[in-house]
Amino acid sequence: MAAALALAALRVTRRVTGAAARLQVREASGVSGGEEVLKAQQAAPGGAAPTIFSRIIDKSIPADILYEDQQCLVFRDVAPQAPVHLLVIPKKPIPRISQAEEQDKQLLGHLLLVAAQTAKAEGLGDGYRLVINDGKLGAQTVYHLHLHILGGRQLQWPPG
Ligand code: 5GP
Repeated sequence: MAAALALAALRVTRRVTGAAARLQVREASGVSGGEEVLKAQQAAPGGAAPTIFSRIIDKSIPADILYEDQQCLVFRDVAPQAPVHLLVIPKKPIPRISQAEEQDKQLLGHLLLVAAQTAKAEGLGDGYRLVINDGKLGAQTVYHLHLHILGGRQLQWPPG
């Protein structure tokens, strides 16, 4: 009886440590993720289909816009991941950075310069991060190219 109980306890312990080890491996390989990753896995790359960002560009839905010119728009992210979290988007609906073309060279440079100028204007002189998520494994949820500007706190590295 005692031997049977000890064997059962050993099996439970093995199951628990096995699960913990699998979790550690998943975390180390970056497989585990939050809500944004789940959203990204479910988001369908919609080609040139209009997204929520097209509606921000045409002002049919509101956004906290900080900067606008003929080529791009900068607004605050609705779900900020840092004290300052802005999005820089081109007005041209390029779905993702991997679909940008040679002819977009000037526009892409412009987006980077606008990002740097806006970060400075927002007081991020001590540093910040620019992020472009691409596709499912890059955790992209909105298929209209955008640069994230993240700052206002110490950012960690490597990213998840
Ligand atoms: P992605 O995951 O595609 O790189 O980033 C998309 C970002 O857009 C997310 O950080 C998300 O919070 C933001 N976002 C999604 N919908 C809206 C919206 O309607 N308004 C604003 N301001 N941000 C949005």
